[in-house]
Formats: sequence, structure tokens, C-alpha cells
Amino acid sequence: MKARVYKSTGSWYVAKADDGKFYNCRIKGVFKTENLQSTNPVAVGDIVMIEPEPEEGMTATIIKILDRENYIARSSPHGRHQHHIIASNLDQAVIIVTLKQPRTSFGFIDRFLVTAEAYHIPALILCNKSDLFGKKELKLFSRLRSIYQEAGYRLLSMSVENNEGVAEAAALLQQKTSLICGHSGVGKSSFINSFFPGLNLRTAEISSFSGKGMHTTTFAQMYDLPEGGSIIDTPGIKEFGIFDIEKQELSHYFPEMRRLLPDCQFNNCLHINEPQCAVKEGVNEGVVSEERYVNYVTMLDTIKETYQ
Ligand code: GDP
Ligand code: ZN
Repeated sequence: MKARVYKSTGSWYVAKADDGKFYNCRIKGVFKTENLQSTNPVAVGDIVMIEPEPEEGMTATIIKILDRENYIARSSPHGRHQHHIIASNLDQAVIIVTLKQPRTSFGFIDRFLVTAEAYHIPALILCNKSDLFGKKELKLFSRLRSIYQEAGYRLLSMSVENNEGVAEAAALLQQKTSLICGHSGVGKSSFINSFFPGLNLRTAEISSFSGKGMHTTTFAQMYDLPEGGSIIDTPGIKEFGIFDIEKQELSHYFPEMRRLLPDCQFNNCLHINEPQCAVKEGVNEGVVSEERYVNYVTMLDTIKETYQ
């Protein structure tokens, strides 16, 4: 029977099968060695084949993982060459940010966007707490919007508190599988609960679970939306490490830079000191924002040279 994985604890998985029921699943030992690069053989969002075990109630064995359409991963604490798959088969990745209480850094947003680009997953930015916007934040927001729209991203503002823009944001989640991310305190739970009140309890359940000395472990969990589509909440994820991106490659994941790359004189241009660099010209002309360029350079510095 075909099923989709909704929850993973590392050794147990909860999967919803085609019969509409949830099964507690184990995997056959053999999967553990199949994908050496990944620390978790089965990820939330995976489509799997399961074999129910009738004697044991709603338990089943995962016997096969169907090919993933895509996935998003982060580097594993176990080593640079291992990664942890956060979720798979995604239609989009949504980042909730705030300009105040707390202020989300541009750097965090851009690392998230680069990760989503690298995995070919469309990204959507939701800026919450617009009720707190004063003059300064309004100015910052309009700058933010022009930067990200220029780069090709959709950015919406909303206030869960005042119920403004929430319906528009929620509408973008319908009939899709969306990974939802954001620093703690941005209003992620408030947002989800506002259009999905039934989830309240379960959200609380997860946070108390992960609060028990397990904050370093990532337990993504998928929930079905009442009107179709699902969201994958990622309570434990603080940061998306850029995984396995080469220096030469990084600018490909900035859409506004990517467009200019054919015009750089050198095809391995890093857009730092090279002559006739279309990206630097783009910064001077304003088609690439200075903020994004600065974040590009900062990220470039964090990528280690690879010696072959
Ligand atoms: P999470 O950690 O991202 O899940 O954030 P929560 O949903 O727990 O919200 C963190 C705090 O922000 C809570 O005190 C919320 O009441 C508050 N909050 C959420 N949305 C808004 C908003 O739109 N405006 C304001 N002013 N506060 C909000
Ligand atoms: Zn260049």
C-alpha cells in the first residue's frame, strides 16, 4: 500500500496510507545502508510502500521509498559529507520573517533562499507582525519587498494579531505541500493556528516533546490542511547550512545574479575582483541589490575551498 510519511522520530515513522489511516512504521534494516550520504533513510514527505502488520494494530513496515521529486537537506552534525534530509516532495518552502520582535536578519533570509534555490524549491517570504510597523519598519519593508521582488520572490506582509493579510498568505498554501520555516518568535504557530485552529493541541504537544532536552534533534512534521494541501512544520531547525555548494556555484542560486552570469568575462567568475564582471556592474546599476551582494560575499567566505 502506498503511504506518505508525516512524522519521523529517527527509528519510527508515522505514515498516512491510501486507505486514509495513519500507521506507525518501521523500516527494513536494509534501507539504512542504501543512502550513505544521508543520516536519515526516510524523511517526512517521502512517498513509501508499506506492508501493514495486521496482528499489531496500526503498525506497518516500510518496504520501499519511491523516488523523491525533490528534497531539502542540511548538513549533518556528523560530518560535512553527510546530510540530513529535512523534508521531501515539496511544492514550496515558506519562510516567516519579522522586522521587529525579533528582527530577522537579511543574512538568514538569503541563506534560506539559497538553500531553496539549490534544491530547486520555489520559496515564499511572509513578513509577519505588520501591526508593529512604524515609519522605520515601513521603509525597511518596502526596501525588502523591492529587493526580493527584483530577485524573483514573492513577499507578503501580514499581521496574525490583527488578522491582516493572513487569508492571502494561507491561500498560497492551498493544495500544496509547503515547508514552513522561521526563527522562533516570528509567529509561526500563531499563523498556523489562525487558519487551522484544530492544530493547536498538536503544536503544543510537539514543542513540549522537543523541549525535553531534544532541541538539537530535528523533528519535522506534516499536517493536512482542512481544504487540501499540507504543511510541514520544522520546530527544531534553527539554520539551514549551505550544503555542498561550491564557490563557483553560489551565484547560480541568486536568481538576479544568475541572469547576468553569461555576461561575466570569465565563466568561473566569483564576482569579487575579476575584471568585466556583470554581477558587479549589476550592483552598480542597481539590478542586484547591495544587501544581497554583501550576503553573497559573506556566504562565499564561509564555503571552504575544495582541493581535488
Ligand atoms: P513561533 O515561535 O514562531 O511559533 O511564534 P508564536 O506563534 O509562538 O508567536 C510568538 C509571539 O509573537 C507570541 O507572543 C505571539 O502572540 C506574537 N505574535 C504572533 N503574531 C503576531 C503579530 O502578527 N503581531 C504581533 N504584534 N505579535 C504577534
Ligand atoms: Zn562576475
